[in-house]
Amino acid sequence: DSVVNRIAAGEVIQRPVSAVKELVENSLDAGSTSVNVAVKDGGLKLIQVSDDGHGIRYEDLPILCERHTTSKLSKYEDLQSIKSMGFRGEALASMTYVGHVMVTTITKGQLHGYRSSYRDGVMENEPKACAAVKGTQIMVENLFYNMIARRKTLQNSSDDYTKIVDLLSRFAIHHTNHGASRSDVHSIATSSRMDSIRTVYGVSVARNLIKIEASDIDHSTSLFEMDGFISNSNYVAKKTTMVLFINDRLVECSALKRAIEIVYAATLPKASKPFIYMSIVLPPEHVDVNVHPTKREVSLLNLEVIIEKVQSVVESKLRESDE
Ligand code: ADP
Ligand code: MG
Repeated sequence: DSVVNRIAAGEVIQRPVSAVKELVENSLDAGSTSVNVAVKDGGLKLIQVSDDGHGIRYEDLPILCERHTTSKLSKYEDLQSIKSMGFRGEALASMTYVGHVMVTTITKGQLHGYRSSYRDGVMENEPKACAAVKGTQIMVENLFYNMIARRKTLQNSSDDYTKIVDLLSRFAIHHTNHGASRSDVHSIATSSRMDSIRTVYGVSVARNLIKIEASDIDHSTSLFEMDGFISNSNYVAKKTTMVLFINDRLVECSALKRAIEIVYAATLPKASKPFIYMSIVLPPEHVDVNVHPTKREVSLLNLEVIIEKVQSVVESKLRESDE
């Protein structure tokens, strides 16, 4: 049974960066305005995510890491209009099957916080009273300690540190006011989205961007809202960077990415691969986030219509800026 759980958990948490994503999303779901992330050894030794969100109630601690325990979904129909990022109640549970999880948390109005640790879906001891300021800190240690092969593969690559930094960069430019920061690299506290793009991706990116505003989309016929930044003809990169948020969730949509690359190739044939930051807001029932446990690739109702609209906005913006 524990082997089955471990295998299932290894599917949800495939690498350190997947754990970081789940933890940061939980922090954002908890209404945090500041999220700090520290990692050691590319996340294999330690991942620590601290937030200033609403915290976890004492009575919820014993069941926190049981599978399918979520505070975000009460009935099946809620799935249709899911707004928060988590809803499966699978992420924390999974982490306890492939690593050691320790939670320190305090809720509003409490004099002290509580700390508890978890293994294999179970709380190991009664929560201990401890000092805490605000919000929740979750530490995951020794990820994949019981999956020797996976640990070896990951240990031999320095990839995950890069992936984690890339992930946090993406969160930081979307959640401008959250200041999602990487405490072992540097802190980001910025006001405008352009400021955070400059901080995270550098001046050479920031000065070659074209702004797309919500008003660039024709609202009379459109079922969605969109804004963002796209690179102009002076931007230089070997591969496409596409930072896509749909309804405030960081997702991937390879069809949309390809469609935009096509517009660039046709409109600015001499330009390099593009940089794209895009935030799209759709009626929640048009977004299917339930396709895969890791929830990366989204599937969208009316994808064709959306792609066409985005392509035409991108094309006219590129032509405008190239004149
Ligand atoms: P899900 O996010 O899908 O609900 P998780 O396994 O990621 O499932 O988290 C389980 C539950 O733990 C959440 O529903 C939430 O109630 C609580 N939780 C986890 N992280 C935090 C946090 N940083 N702040 C407050 N509550 C949290
Ligand atoms: Mg979650």
